[in-house]
Amino acid sequence: MEENQSKNIILTGDRPTGRLHLGHYAGSLRRRVELQNSGRFDEVYIMIADAQALTDNSDNPEKVRSNVAEVALDYLACGLNPDIATIFIQSQVSELTELAFYYMNLVTVARLQRNPTVKAEIQARNFEASIPVGFFTYPISQTADITAFDATIVPVGEDQLPMLEQAREIVRSFNSTYGETLVEPKELLPDNSACGRLPGTDGKAKMSKSLGNCIYLADSADEIKSKIMNMYTDPNHLRVEDEGNTKDNPVFIYLDAFSTDEHFKKYLPDYQNLAALKAHYERGGLGDVKVKRFLNSVIQETLEPIRKKRAEWEGRLDDVYEILQRGCIKARAAAAKTTKRVKKAMKIDYFGE
Ligand code: ATP
Ligand code: MG
Repeated sequence: MEENQSKNIILTGDRPTGRLHLGHYAGSLRRRVELQNSGRFDEVYIMIADAQALTDNSDNPEKVRSNVAEVALDYLACGLNPDIATIFIQSQVSELTELAFYYMNLVTVARLQRNPTVKAEIQARNFEASIPVGFFTYPISQTADITAFDATIVPVGEDQLPMLEQAREIVRSFNSTYGETLVEPKELLPDNSACGRLPGTDGKAKMSKSLGNCIYLADSADEIKSKIMNMYTDPNHLRVEDEGNTKDNPVFIYLDAFSTDEHFKKYLPDYQNLAALKAHYERGGLGDVKVKRFLNSVIQETLEPIRKKRAEWEGRLDDVYEILQRGCIKARAAAAKTTKRVKKAMKIDYFGE
């Protein structure tokens, strides 16, 4: 394995099945931007996984196509910088499909069936017996995406842990069968556990496009406010005097994920920090409306600059597509290098150069 082995390389991405939401921001996007700006990485690849989105949306190509631009706008709005990060579209790098095909030989059906994320997603989509083969094998395609760029670090939310585990297994299997060729990736989870799996506004375990319980990065100030004021909280906290639960309460989990002591100084100076607010809620005497109003201020402050920047980029869609096109070209060149190495290792390189 040559030059790339000693590099620090990031790969991560999102499925263009809808606009990005606070869960994406907390779980992965915010961290990506920090890492991008840290200067610690030699290369940063951000992939819009349209091919993967088609595995469970094959009948809706228009949805996937239109959301490619939406996701790109969300990226640029959050501060991903195309001068540093290579933003590209998965389907335009055909080497990724090629690698996935070879890796399929190294994975058993039983192993895929055991993957907890795949299991949960099959259930959520009511796929059971009718699961498309492409969807079933997407952990393999994800391994192709990661290894094609020799990624060392993959910043993701908690739901992706089994995917990274499976990717490492495939890498080890490949390397032991064909000789050291692929780089083993590591996940990078948010250090704040509230961010690893942000719940939905309805209190369900995960904020997810498919569940319709999201606050989108592009939501207007009014939409955000109304979603927050209608959020699920502790169902047993009926009167202000009642003792409240902050643990399974999404309002407090969002505060865990987004509020800072500065926010308290600015919007709720009666409390020094989140611990003090939680203590009051738990012993009783603090109403939900007050907490939600504070959360609204925090989220508005977080999302306003993103929304503004998004609106600017919306007026420059041609530039957005040009950024994507440049990204695809660059990503393809990198993936082609790896594919060449892979084919050589597998002894399917017949004609020298
Ligand atoms: P879909 O329902 O189409 O699968 P999704 O909302 O699960 O969409 P993905 O595109 O599958 O979003 O996920 C992209 C990235 O965002 C992954 O790294 C994932 O871990 C992270 N992520 C998604 N939802 C959340 C969440 N609620 N909390 C934290 N991270 C999340
Ligand atoms: Mg998902």
